[in-house]
Amino acid sequence: MKVLQRVRFSSLELNWLPNSIKKGLILPQIFFVQNSGVGGGYYRVKNFDNDWGNLTKRPIIVIDIHSETNDLDSTIAHEFRHHWQLYTYGNWISPRWKIENSYKKSIIKFYSSCPYERDALQFETKLAPNDTNLEWKEWLLE
Ligand SMILES: [Zn+2]
Repeated sequence: MKVLQRVRFSSLELNWLPNSIKKGLILPQIFFVQNSGVGGGYYRVKNFDNDWGNLTKRPIIVIDIHSETNDLDSTIAHEFRHHWQLYTYGNWISPRWKIENSYKKSIIKFYSSCPYERDALQFETKLAPNDTNLEWKEWLLE
């Protein structure tokens, strides 16, 4: 996995998010990467045993610009919401992504097993709706 670019918190990448959600928070750094295998990720300061830990003392949002299906705005919104959740509610464990017998079932199981993931999905569809996140939200309501 290759780090392409390191962007500090004053960057445009977070500027479009509403100030109300950024208020009082240390802002994470954003790293653009390619071929990470996931669209995006949020890494807490404590998780320094990851690939990113030696790069910064701030929490990190990793965005994979190589993933074809990755919508940057919705990924940034989703991962930023996890940052907000950590500072608002404290530590929580994200469920492991697991392939069920269908893609749809995998999505439903992932989001319905974790209120924090559901909340992040809700948040990204509000700020950066796209065909994918709107469809996922619909699946959860079925
Ligand atoms: Zn998430």
